[in-house]
Amino acid sequence: MSEGFIPFSRPYFDDSDVEAVAAVIRSGWWTTGPRTREFEEAFAVYQGAEHAVALNSCTAGLHLALLAAGVGEGDLVLTSTYTFAATAEVGLYLGAVPVLFDIDPRTMNLEASALAAAVECAAEGDRGAVERAADEGRVAPGTARVLAGRAGARVGAVVPVHFAGLACDMDAVGRAAAAGGAPVIADAAHAVETTSGGAHVGALGDVCAFSFYATKNLSTGEGGMVTTDDGELAERVRRLSLHGISKDAWNRYTAEGSWYYEIMEAGYKYNLTDIAAALGLAQLGRLDRLHDRRARIATRYSEAFADLGALTLPAAPDGDTHAWHLYVVRLRPDTLRIDRARFIEELRERGVGSSVHFIPLHLHPLHRDMHGYRRGDFPAAEAAYDAAVSLPLYPSLTDGEVERVCEAVRAICEENVA
Ligand SMILES: *Cc1c(COP(=O)(O)O)cnc(C)c1O
Repeated sequence: MSEGFIPFSRPYFDDSDVEAVAAVIRSGWWTTGPRTREFEEAFAVYQGAEHAVALNSCTAGLHLALLAAGVGEGDLVLTSTYTFAATAEVGLYLGAVPVLFDIDPRTMNLEASALAAAVECAAEGDRGAVERAADEGRVAPGTARVLAGRAGARVGAVVPVHFAGLACDMDAVGRAAAAGGAPVIADAAHAVETTSGGAHVGALGDVCAFSFYATKNLSTGEGGMVTTDDGELAERVRRLSLHGISKDAWNRYTAEGSWYYEIMEAGYKYNLTDIAAALGLAQLGRLDRLHDRRARIATRYSEAFADLGALTLPAAPDGDTHAWHLYVVRLRPDTLRIDRARFIEELRERGVGSSVHFIPLHLHPLHRDMHGYRRGDFPAAEAAYDAAVSLPLYPSLTDGEVERVCEAVRAICEENVA
């Protein structure tokens, strides 16, 4: 058995990434320019979307998508509690109210049936409907509490999260959003390779936002992209990403461009650099090959753990592609003598790094204090959080390392049977 600590995450790169970045540096054009345009075009083709706009983060993409879709003061933004900070904070930038939802315990994605019930309650605008839905168990107590205080509020957007790289039920999410007259703006930070019904998720919903953060399946260090079939919305996002200016720097400073520009509205500084885009293009070119490796590792884990009664393994989609950004096992209550914190410690002692995705948003002080959330408000998300362990899953894991992870997990389960 080879030794050495197996980190939870490790970036993958080869000489072609280094060369691509070096070429941009030598070119003298470092900010948004030809490489960024090329990356956008290649990414749109990969996703099967009409338009792609590169940004400096997924957070920026979600923010501008909500803004461009008309989300504003007092609007409800419906999303999962089981996600990263960014998903809900962008609504707060705009004065909107994040309304959190519990998860389907099988997929760990937002529960679409609760979404439909909540949209119905918002449309009816009466407090009684919300209370009935909560009593009947159709929406989580935490969701009902926020909705009950906002009878008659407009649903600004629905923001599903493709957790770990497994697609949400986009048909059900789309139907619920349509019933509320709201766009679907997906958080696809984990889901560059994810498909649903045979289509990449970037082609589904109204807008889809991707992350190229350091740990994500396709990385530019920091970076993001939004995809959409709506040309006007794409142009608005592009303009908002560069101070609300009518032309970008590339169009202004090259021989073909001119010095004139107009500030159309108050925008932001969210553009991606060509240095980052070059890295993104290099990674996009080998994305499917690296994804095959991720999928093979996930399959190996699922085989190796199939007979471990202490673990709930991640759901795999039927016929569709899971991006396998994360491989999250959940410890079954009462099957082990140790808790999740101790399990992670035991992994570490055996040389295996791991992590936890996610601490539900409603348990963080920001959201807790805003809406008086407490334990019990989102039972499925809380149970998942208490039990979740994310194992190392990245293309540069060697077969030997994968086997060491398998052996460590098996040994901990077997030595700690309750
Ligand atoms: C990483 C992540 C984000 C944020 O991505 P950035 O590119 O860092 O802004 C948003 N949502 C989820 C679910 C993430 O994991």
